[in-house]
Amino acid sequence: MEQQASDEALLEEAGAIIRGGGLVAFPTETVYGLGGDAMNPSASQKIYAAKGRPSDNPLIVHIWDFSQLEEIAATLPPQTKALADAFWPGPMTLIVPKNEKIPYETTGGLDTVAVRMPSHPVARDFIRISGRMIAAPSANTSGRPSPTNADHVWQDLQGKIEGIIDGGSVDIGLESTIVDLSEGIPTILRPGYITKAMLEEVVGDVRIDPGILSENEKVRPKAPGMRYKHYAPKGDLTIINGSADAVVSYINQATADAMASGKQVGIIATEETRDLYRAGEILTIGSREDEDAIARNLYGILRRFDELGVELIFSESFSTPRIGQAIMNRLFKAAGHHMIDV
Ligand code: AMP
Ligand code: MG
Repeated sequence: MEQQASDEALLEEAGAIIRGGGLVAFPTETVYGLGGDAMNPSASQKIYAAKGRPSDNPLIVHIWDFSQLEEIAATLPPQTKALADAFWPGPMTLIVPKNEKIPYETTGGLDTVAVRMPSHPVARDFIRISGRMIAAPSANTSGRPSPTNADHVWQDLQGKIEGIIDGGSVDIGLESTIVDLSEGIPTILRPGYITKAMLEEVVGDVRIDPGILSENEKVRPKAPGMRYKHYAPKGDLTIINGSADAVVSYINQATADAMASGKQVGIIATEETRDLYRAGEILTIGSREDEDAIARNLYGILRRFDELGVELIFSESFSTPRIGQAIMNRLFKAAGHHMIDV
């Protein structure tokens, strides 16, 4: 299938669907996107409908050339060029004031627009060949884990969209870092592979939206999408935090108790701990030494637990250098902020 995805004829066909107002899912380096023509209000409305997504939750506009950003931004905030030079194409989304070319349907009614230039070669070819800018949120049903392969997209959106470009499994596995440039100091609205430290090396001071750090529900995240329950598996997920020994023995005990009362239990284990668990559906997310693997495998594992029908899930907690912060952000949301310290 990967062969097919780079096939020019296939991308021509996908581009024609976009120009005709239809929807095509496509691979990017972060997760699969559900694409439509960013300038076509009815395409954006179709995206919301296919995902079951609230229409006040704006879409990210995907471009393949910097000039496209200039075409839709009302002004370019001072840090734009430096950040684009440093991290585009790549897993960073910039929020800038929009001009009248981008319809409010695409920006969820906001006067700013989120823009990203993906690095995935299929995504880039697809956008270029379509001749359009492509509005795309993650290609999952709203509330489910984001899709990291074409099969996940198929499970959620079959019959609701015109096509899927299969590019195999994605590389990063977590959504882009969103950086808001519309209000002075660059502010991270969603953590991702590009970290605060990486951004600061380029533009100096960078803030993190207090709404995504606070456990207090009154402090609302600025990105509408970060306010909704998200990344949720069907089973009830709890993160267990502490020393490896304490975590393993807590999870073993809790699993035994739950299974004794007839519950199906899933465990998110690591290479280092997998052999220490005694019962339940044990899925290994990767080595603790390899943050990239943990990021890449997280959503697939949450989906796998849905298929297995587990009712309770226990996950180990992960350290937060680099992309670890994004991993824990997604895991916290999947767990509805339920963490037990042992
Ligand atoms: P998704 O593409 O599904 O990962 O979702 C896009 C994310 O970007 C959501 O969390 C949106 O709320 C956020 N977003 C998109 N445009 C804007 C904007 N103009 N201002 C703030 N957040 C935005
Ligand atoms: Mg999403």
